[in-house]
Amino acid sequence: AAVEGFDIEDVEGAIGEAGHGPLPVLAVVGRPNVGKSTLVNRIIGRREAVVEDKPGVTRDRVTYEAEWAGRRFKVVDTGGWEQDVLGIDASVAAQAEYAIEAADAVVFVVDAKVGATDTDEAVVRLLRKAGKPVVLAANKVDGLSGESDASYLWSLGLGEPHPVSALHGRGTGDMLDAVLEALPEAPEQTFGTAVGGPRRIALIGRPNVGKSSLLNKVAGEERVVVNEIAGTTRDPVDELIELGGITWKFVDTAGIRKRVHLQQGADYYASLRTAAAVEKAEVAVILIDASESISVQDQRIVTMAVEAGRAIVLAFNKWDTLDEERRYYLEREIETELAQVAWAPRVNVSARTGRHMEKLVPGIETALAGWETRVPTGRLNAFLGELVAAHPHPVRGGKQPRILFGTQAGTKPPRFVLFASGFIEAGYRRFIERRLREEFAFEGTPIHISVRVRE
Ligand code: GDP
Ligand code: GDP
Repeated sequence: AAVEGFDIEDVEGAIGEAGHGPLPVLAVVGRPNVGKSTLVNRIIGRREAVVEDKPGVTRDRVTYEAEWAGRRFKVVDTGGWEQDVLGIDASVAAQAEYAIEAADAVVFVVDAKVGATDTDEAVVRLLRKAGKPVVLAANKVDGLSGESDASYLWSLGLGEPHPVSALHGRGTGDMLDAVLEALPEAPEQTFGTAVGGPRRIALIGRPNVGKSSLLNKVAGEERVVVNEIAGTTRDPVDELIELGGITWKFVDTAGIRKRVHLQQGADYYASLRTAAAVEKAEVAVILIDASESISVQDQRIVTMAVEAGRAIVLAFNKWDTLDEERRYYLEREIETELAQVAWAPRVNVSARTGRHMEKLVPGIETALAGWETRVPTGRLNAFLGELVAAHPHPVRGGKQPRILFGTQAGTKPPRFVLFASGFIEAGYRRFIERRLREEFAFEGTPIHISVRVRE
């Protein structure tokens, strides 16, 4: 499409960029101190995943967006944890397992100066079992003299070791080239192979909100016999559950059922598990304990799902325990603390009594429908034309920026590109988003709007 004042390449480029589908996921795994976080920093090209010297630091952020050679992908960092009560092998195994689970490809980091340890061998076994493509990074090869250390790592049987220095950047470009070869264009497990199969739900929420109770309630006697459903290869951690006459895949339920109580790093495991579940799912059902104040942890989980671009349903659990006063305060808290997902369908449930379980499915369906909605360009521009005529952008410096043209570049979640004649203020962008949501029923889905301004 030609837009007044824009090059056709600009327009096509902007639409192509905004229209990218869900990004493939790369997990970076390995023993503590091999340099995973340093390597993640290198890959994402910024200092977001701060490498802390202090032991016991837990990070809530575990996924980052990265780009190499024009391709975008997500990186899961597993560096933010400590050895815990399980002992080193089990801890490494547990974190690697979650990360590998969520990933389309894995970078396995080994300290070339130390060589392969028993713990490394244990991770290799996990990687074999998972069968995902692996790029072996032999880290801390800061100079030529270290290259021979790297070559010993052929013995791991994972193919060519890529000698890198995460700290100085040596060799990381070649390693990333190998990563791009290993990564599928789109996240296979989430959006590729399973097309047409059961829709994937991540049941998430902070500890003790009632995830396992809810899962047990909905699974109940309705548990589906896996082999009866054609075309489903079930992951042992995923569970097929029939709800409202439809079979759904609840992803990563092992994490919910297996109640590993970790002392150190428990929050970190919880974040990693949540991130893994969200990556694998199309829709996140976020469980919130309605009997308690909405916490920062609840908000972080919400943010994680929003940033991952998943359809979202909010389920307020333990409704059986609420008195009138608590109900009053809860509504106020929802308004202030959960404003970022004011658009999400909401259900008030009790995993204990089974209250309103039947409302979950309509909520999920509404959210998925919004997530997949595509607005035809003609309709979108008719809407934008009327909107802009009725509510023009405020005049700034004697000029009035106009929206010239808009198009929806992608779905899951919906992504829009607007072309404008001048800078569009944040308030006006929010106004457009609000009106778009109202007009096209984008309920239960984040929407992305990027604005291109004419030079
Ligand atoms: P993680 O626990 O695997 O995430 O490891 P970190 O990224 O926290 O790194 C552990 C330590 O190794 C830090 O002191 C880093 O500065 C150091 N380190 C990481 N990569 C390199 C490297 O390529 N060369 C050298 N010499 N040190 C490194
Ligand atoms: P999870 O950590 O999120 O899996 O939470 P659990 O399912 O283990 O539940 C934590 C606690 O909350 C348990 O003691 C449950 O019995 C209780 N619980 C869960 N759902 C409800 C509910 O709807 N009502 C009430 N009263 N208690 C609940």
